[in-house]
Amino acid sequence: MTARVLVVDDIIANVRLLEAKLTAEYFEVITAMNGLDALDAVQKSKPDIILLDVMMPGIDGIEVCKRIKSNPDTQHIPVVMVTALDQPEDRVKGLEAGADDFLTKPVNDISLFCRIKSLVRLKMLTDELRVRSPAAEGTANLHVDDKLNQKPGHVLLVDSQPASAERIIAAMSGKCRVTVAATHAAALEAVAASERPFELIVVSFDQSQFDGLRLCSQLRSGDATRQTPLMIIVNPDEQQLLLRALDMGVNDYLMRPIDREEVMARAATQVRRWRYTEQLRNSVKASIEMAITDALTGLYNRRYLETHLNHMIAHYVNRGKVLSVLAVDVDFFKAINDTHGHDAGDKVLQELSQRLRDHTRSIDLCCRIGGEEFIVVLPNTDAFTAEKIGERLRRAVASKSFTIGTPSLVPVTISAGIATLAGMDDTLEKLLKRADSALYRAKREGRNRVIKAGLVA
Ligand code: GH3
Ligand code: MG
Ligand code: MG
Repeated sequence: MTARVLVVDDIIANVRLLEAKLTAEYFEVITAMNGLDALDAVQKSKPDIILLDVMMPGIDGIEVCKRIKSNPDTQHIPVVMVTALDQPEDRVKGLEAGADDFLTKPVNDISLFCRIKSLVRLKMLTDELRVRSPAAEGTANLHVDDKLNQKPGHVLLVDSQPASAERIIAAMSGKCRVTVAATHAAALEAVAASERPFELIVVSFDQSQFDGLRLCSQLRSGDATRQTPLMIIVNPDEQQLLLRALDMGVNDYLMRPIDREEVMARAATQVRRWRYTEQLRNSVKASIEMAITDALTGLYNRRYLETHLNHMIAHYVNRGKVLSVLAVDVDFFKAINDTHGHDAGDKVLQELSQRLRDHTRSIDLCCRIGGEEFIVVLPNTDAFTAEKIGERLRRAVASKSFTIGTPSLVPVTISAGIATLAGMDDTLEKLLKRADSALYRAKREGRNRVIKAGLVA
């Protein structure tokens, strides 16, 4: 992984030191030595991440951070505040100014690369998701809307020492609601039992009690916790353990003795990031759903039908398998609209879609391809069975009137045409055309009936 890093510090030795470390790890480094130059460099060279000294003459790091985070063009760039060890309150100020993380001087290599890599990874993910999700534009920074962020974080703490657990809970109080597990097994149980997913799991390593790495690796590969931020707490002499954990995908760490403010700040940061990426993931999911489903009924739309059915036909033809489609059309739907209104018509379409779903298998594909026209794809289904399914659907509609408004009942019927895949030369167009001709015959022969297509349309 490589990235362009902007290093900002008013002391040249500090700049050079960070530059040397980062260059050695193949990061591209640009530098600035005061606030104004830093803002200029952010605009001009669009870094992937910014390491920002707090104490600088003129506009200080906090102010620079505020300006970066209030500009829509730059607010998505992660900012790491570099604070002096004896100024813990700077960390809180930095996070309040919108910083994404902080490092303490003198900067140690593990913490430098852990934090940079994790932020660059996150930025790549969010850049990617933002491209895919139109809804995410405009919320293009690492921050979720404030209301969500005021909710306390839902945190699991794995700690075998009650006294230590209590200190950590106290440090996070107000910001997080913490569930404690004292053992490996209890941690997995807590994950399984939790009604909503944890937003952060903190594992306090205690090698005499349980294998922390094993637990982290299990959490990383479990379905429910694969994406959950993991933070570990280790002793200063456990560097090897820490490096392996970071390799495994642990997101952040703390060294004992733990600093109260740091626990709180790091936990809050991880929860905030998790919420932001969740929000993006959900909006990507919603926009994918929007692209393949019909807004009124939630059934698949025509575009999805065509793509999917084409793939299926190729697959089925090659393997000599059977597949049928059912073309369904509401009888005299125009009259329903004319008598009861367009909204009532919409309700009928929604209720009908539900009945189609209820009376088909989960592998069948129900699609709305136009106003009151539907296609149901029936995999592994021959013409004879398809006719029985069509008949079942017809009855499911005709046998019970539809409720529109209160308490208005409308009788509704459907007609359906059935076509079945026939031989190597069959295509999507031919198949749908045959189903449509059969449907047309069903209409002509009196409606409320199901007709099987002949082999030619
Ligand atoms: P047939 O039995 O021959 O199918 O008669 P029909 O009245 O169902 O067919 P026609 O094609 O004449 O009318 C379809 C009607 O469906 C006309 C159109 O206004 C209505 N329609 C199309 N899309 C929607 C929709 O999304 N909502 C509602 N409420 N009506 C729709
Ligand atoms: Mg300084
Ligand atoms: Mg109709």
